[in-house]
This record gives sequence, C-alpha cells and structure tokens, in this order.
Amino acid sequence: MVSLGSGPAPHNRRRRGCGGQLTPSAAAAYTAPVADRADRRRSWEGEALKPAPFDYLAPTTVAEAVQALAEAGEDTKPIAGGQSLVPMLALRLTRFDALVDLNRIDALRGVERAGDVRIGAMTRHCDIGTDAVVAADVPLLALVTPLIGHFQIRNRGTLGGSIAHADPAAEYPAVALALGATIEAVGPDGPRSIAAADFFTGTWMTCLEPAEVVTAVRFPVWGPGSHFAVEEVARRHGDFALAGAVCALQLSGGRVERAAVALFGVDSTPVRAASTEAALTGASLADLDFKALGHQAVEGLEPPGDIHGSSEFRRHIGAVVVARALQRAAQEATNG
Ligand SMILES: Cc1cc2nc3c(=O)[nH]c(=O)nc-3n(C[C@H](O)[C@H](O)[C@H](O)COP(=O)(O)OP(=O)(O)OC[C@H]3O[C@@H](n4cnc5c(N)ncnc54)[C@H](O)[C@@H]3O)c2cc1C
Repeated sequence: MVSLGSGPAPHNRRRRGCGGQLTPSAAAAYTAPVADRADRRRSWEGEALKPAPFDYLAPTTVAEAVQALAEAGEDTKPIAGGQSLVPMLALRLTRFDALVDLNRIDALRGVERAGDVRIGAMTRHCDIGTDAVVAADVPLLALVTPLIGHFQIRNRGTLGGSIAHADPAAEYPAVALALGATIEAVGPDGPRSIAAADFFTGTWMTCLEPAEVVTAVRFPVWGPGSHFAVEEVARRHGDFALAGAVCALQLSGGRVERAAVALFGVDSTPVRAASTEAALTGASLADLDFKALGHQAVEGLEPPGDIHGSSEFRRHIGAVVVARALQRAAQEATNG
C-alpha cells in the first residue's frame, strides 16, 4: 500500500508546490511529519506562493501512481508536463491537496510500432514532432505538433496531458478522434481501452475516473495512398486556434476510398464531420467542391462565442479551415 504519510519510497517523496528559497517556517513545514499536514498548510499562509500549497508525490510506476491517486481521493491530480495544470494552479483557478507527478515513470514514455503506433502518455510534444515512426506512420500528428503553443510548451507538454486535459481547441484530441485512436488507461480496477469517440465528453471533460491514468494512445496506421492536412486560424502564433480542422484522405485510382475530417475549437469537444466524410467517400478527386464540403462540415454546429470571436464567426472559420485542409490534402495527392 502506498502510504501518504511515511517511508522513503520514491513515490512518496514530497515537495511543496513553489519555487525559490524556503523560509525557516516553510522549511520546518517541509520536514514536519505528515500528521501535521494541516498545521504545515497553515504555516505557509502569508508566504509568497502563487499556487495554493499541495503535497507532491513522485511515483516511479503506473501502479504506484494509481494507488496514490486512489488513496488520496478526489482532491488529487496527476501532473504531466504541467503546461495546462500549473497556470491554473498559479492563478488559483483550481487547487488540489496533492499532485501525483508522472514524470519519473519511464514506462509511460516512447513511441512503438506494433500494428498501430502506440505512443506513451508522457511522450512530449517535441519528441512526437521529431519521431521517425510518427512521421512515417501517423504524419498527421507530426503536422499538428508545431501548431501547439510555443517551443517551450512543446518541450514539456505531453500527449497524455493534452488528451486528458481535453481542451476543445487542442490539436491532439482532434487527431485522435479523426484517426479513430484508442486511449489506454489504468485505474484501480485495472487497464481499459477507450475509443477516442467515447473519451471526450465536454469542455475539459473526459470519461476518465478520478484515479485513472492515461498510459498511452494507439493510433491506427492508414494505408498507402493516404494524405493528411491540418489548417487552423489563431489570433497569434502559439495561441489556441479559434477554429481548426484535420483531415485524412485515402485515395485509389483518383477516387477517395476513405475520408476522416475533424474540427476543433467549434464545440465543447472535437467533432467529426460525418456528413462531409460520407460525401467524400467514393468521390472523384477532380470533382471535389472544397467550399461546399467546408460548409457541409459546420452544418448544425453552434460554436460558443467569446471575446475572440462570435459563434457565427467561428462557424465561418470552421467551414474555411475544412475547405483549406481538404484542398491541401488533395493537392498533396495530386503532386505525389
Ligand atoms: C500559452 C499556452 C499555449 C498553448 N497552446 C496550445 C495549443 O495551441 N494547442 C494545444 O493543444 N495545447 C496548447 N497548450 C496546452 C499544452 O499543449 C499542454 O501541454 C497540454 O494541454 C497539457 O499537457 P501537459 O502534459 O502539460 O499536462 P498537465 O498540464 O500536466 O495536465 C493537464 C491535465 O491533464 C491531467 N493529466 C495529465 N497527464 C495525465 C495522464 N497521463 N493521465 C490522466 N490525467 C492526466 C492533469 O491532471 C491535468 O488535469 C498551450 C499551453 C499554454 C500554456
């Protein structure tokens, strides 16, 4: 059993949630027995902290992480790259009693080709963007990666973090949905596999249970004759997209044999453009009306409006990016 209060086990190492020098009172709090946790938390009040104080656990195996999450209860969260979680903690938009750091779990890192392409949850965006297997077998992932934030964010952010965070404007969830990826998770009841189509349930919401950890994502490999594209519109380089689209076209003899189109930033989750996919399937490449296909993709969508753009504006952009993505994939097919 993982005990939150004792022992030198690696997953039980503790640090307080801040940077900088420890003051004497903070240092005392840091070394105090865990039974005094409430006192320690009080002793930090008045310190120059950005996030609310939290306990820090650093497991080295998935089993330890799951156990720590299960024992510590709902006020505990995994932390991966920290690129979404840390800003929210620092702004005190959220607070947790404890964070379970996944960074020391080596088994969660890496890309392997075994039928599908299986990418460990702790594989960082920058590694996905430069991986030879990804480039050859899931090129859509390589195409979207440079569009995620800035390089500092891509150096730390992880695939599992992006998938679990489930931002509706994020690129990786849209790729997972479009390609029919499978999310592997482990919780107190053991491992399970979840289709991307069932995984994203709302803005920043997934079907993960509180003590479940995403361990990997498996991406199907599309066959020969497949072409991929991403298009998005963002106010500035590095911003989340106002609206974006990813697409995959598999061609044979000048006709579309198989199509996948997903939009992001236009709903509470990434969405598949099923009617556009149906219209594409079987069509001759030469006859494709990209503008019409773009409009078809946003039919029925009511994107949330905000200070960056009204609902109508986002729907318009959605149609534009679908049209552009399909055109780009088709051009690539034509150019060989
Ligand atoms: C300025 C800025 C711009 C950005 N722009 C973009 C962008 O354009 N596109 C984009 O897609 N993203 C963008 N991001 C987000 C970035 O890609 C994050 O890295 C990503 O969303 C979360 O990954 P992470 O590893 O940092 O997760 P963390 O921040 O560590 O965690 C995020 C959430 O996921 C949970 N979590 C993490 N890993 C797991 C796991 N294995 N199992 C279960 N739960 C887990 C955490 O508990 C937390 O709730 C941006 C971030 C910033 C700060």
